[in-house]
Amino acid sequence: MKHRVILHSDANCFYASCEMVLNPELRDKAVAVGGNEEERHGIILAKSEKAKRVGVKTGMPLWEAKNLCPDLIIVPPHFEYYSKFSKLLHKIYERYTDYVEPFGLDECWLDVTNCGVDGEIIAEEIRQAVKDELGLTVSIGVSFNKVFAKLGSDLKKPDAVTVISKENFKEKVWPLPVSDLLYCGRQTTQALLSCGITTIGLLAKAPLDFITRKFGKNGHSLWVFANGEDDSEVAHKDYYVPPKSVGHGITCIENLVNDEEASKVIVSLSLDIGYKLRKEGLHAGGVSLVVKDENFTHYSYQTKFEATTQDEGLLSKEAIKLLKKNYPWVFKIRALTVTAIAIETTDTPVQQDMFFDYEKQDKRKKLGETINDIKDTFGKSAILPATVLDEKKMPKKRQEDTVLPGIMHK
Ligand SMILES: [Mg+2]
Repeated sequence: MKHRVILHSDANCFYASCEMVLNPELRDKAVAVGGNEEERHGIILAKSEKAKRVGVKTGMPLWEAKNLCPDLIIVPPHFEYYSKFSKLLHKIYERYTDYVEPFGLDECWLDVTNCGVDGEIIAEEIRQAVKDELGLTVSIGVSFNKVFAKLGSDLKKPDAVTVISKENFKEKVWPLPVSDLLYCGRQTTQALLSCGITTIGLLAKAPLDFITRKFGKNGHSLWVFANGEDDSEVAHKDYYVPPKSVGHGITCIENLVNDEEASKVIVSLSLDIGYKLRKEGLHAGGVSLVVKDENFTHYSYQTKFEATTQDEGLLSKEAIKLLKKNYPWVFKIRALTVTAIAIETTDTPVQQDMFFDYEKQDKRKKLGETINDIKDTFGKSAILPATVLDEKKMPKKRQEDTVLPGIMHK
């Protein structure tokens, strides 16, 4: 295989750093981006270097972070700005190559094989340009494949460049814990540890047939990664990755106490999902419901459909069924997330089913298109089903809004 030069650039403390550029008074302070405290959506979404040093973690409730760090400044998120900064970062990357593949808002792979310049030199130029032009810092990994480039960007930060070459990867990468490997999730890590495979090097040296037998396809690819043989390509900047799931979740202002209250929230969450599916031309093959109770315990339920759909009515009906069938109601519900799963870009042919009402399906489809038109013209809250109107427990503001990309963060 041809020798490739791949960079992975990761903006350091991205949300918090953007906030510091927007408001220089925050510089060098312990800053965290988090939900509104009064509405008690309170968790830390991102933190500055200084906040990190005293133990503030992403996902931590705001009150806990405040206890740890009394002078912590909490600012609400400004996603529209982060997305602008993200585009500006891409503009800098695109000076070198058209092969720029995002991984979330703050990370990108670049294939600079054909630049005719040493990868490390390009990385240094980019690092400097980002600092001078945007006031942000990035750490960049330079390597011969995507997985090691990503690893490299984690090794030294902030504002640094790390080279992992064919000559030095055994020395630099192999001693690292196996969980540092991209796509080595918590469960796989546990399973590998139970076989005594603690480092990337031990995984690389394990017999492939043993790994495949024990860990299947995922194990096979992790073994390939560990040996530096990842040959996946960096996508072109115009490449569109269809989302694997389209979801919407919310933390309620007051805890929900019964099926009826939870159902109203589910109906309301499903609305946006139907809208997004139609907008993106996607079809859901199933739905998942994640319930977080008042003790922060998560319950996750899902179901697959016989045929795909874009219909929010069907999505919410099935999600409500999941709730009624499964949720034990020992504790009140704090947060709910509805996600359309098994996403397909085309409609799967509906099975011949004598009980299936085609006419009704057709009408529903037309209704969906009309709903999108109205929402595009008059705004997203122009149409709400009667069940969610005047509901005092509905949050004032929508909180998490997720269109998950095809590739997920570890
Ligand atoms: Mg980052």
